[in-house]
Amino acid sequence: MDAKTISRWMREIESSVRAERDHLVQLDAAIGDGDHGTNMTRGFEAVVQALDADGGSTPGKLLSLCGRTLVSTVGGASGPLWGSALRSGGRVLGDQPSFEGAQLVEVLAAALASVKDLGTAAPGDKTMVDALEPAVETLRARLADGDSLESAIDAAAGAAEAGMRATIPLQARKGRASYLGERSVGHQDPGATSTALIMRALQRAVTATS
Ligand code: ADP
Ligand code: MG
Repeated sequence: MDAKTISRWMREIESSVRAERDHLVQLDAAIGDGDHGTNMTRGFEAVVQALDADGGSTPGKLLSLCGRTLVSTVGGASGPLWGSALRSGGRVLGDQPSFEGAQLVEVLAAALASVKDLGTAAPGDKTMVDALEPAVETLRARLADGDSLESAIDAAAGAAEAGMRATIPLQARKGRASYLGERSVGHQDPGATSTALIMRALQRAVTATS
């Protein structure tokens, strides 16, 4: 995998959050302020513009560029959280021109650590962590078991989707949804939903470029 994988991943995210914008807005309208779909779409549209303007950066530098772009274009909680996640992931890759599956695990683990650090959310708090953490753990475990990268990343995206659905019965303990207390129960978390889209986008990008 190389810079093309990162570029493809970001473009796949942009098209899927744009396609799911109204759904993400509806989910956020139920337990938040209804801007998650527009936040993510605006942010990743800006990311694609930044990629188009880039003149051949390494994968790590591209991730950092994308993270900085999200921080500067998205006002909601998801902007700084995903922005710092991508920047942390970029730092793992440094200046190297390509990377393997084991390093992809470290990129995603650093992204998860940064979300947890900044947002102080634990699994079960009904946030994006509930989709991202099982995805990272599944990717790590499948690769350690000798699975192919394609199969492991597919399982990781599936784990993010399962984690997303598992947020429905949870009561939110972080972010705006936590203000609703028990009334947040019975709704799927918007940030976990976009995180599942982001992991599925990674699966498509990896399959197309590795
Ligand atoms: P805002 O809540 O500021 O309007 P968004 O609507 O874009 O921002 O994003 C909401 C999502 O952000 C939530 O569904 C949740 O998954 C995630 N989120 C909010 N606060 C946190 C946090 N402290 N830690 C992790 N994720 C969080
Ligand atoms: Mg919101």
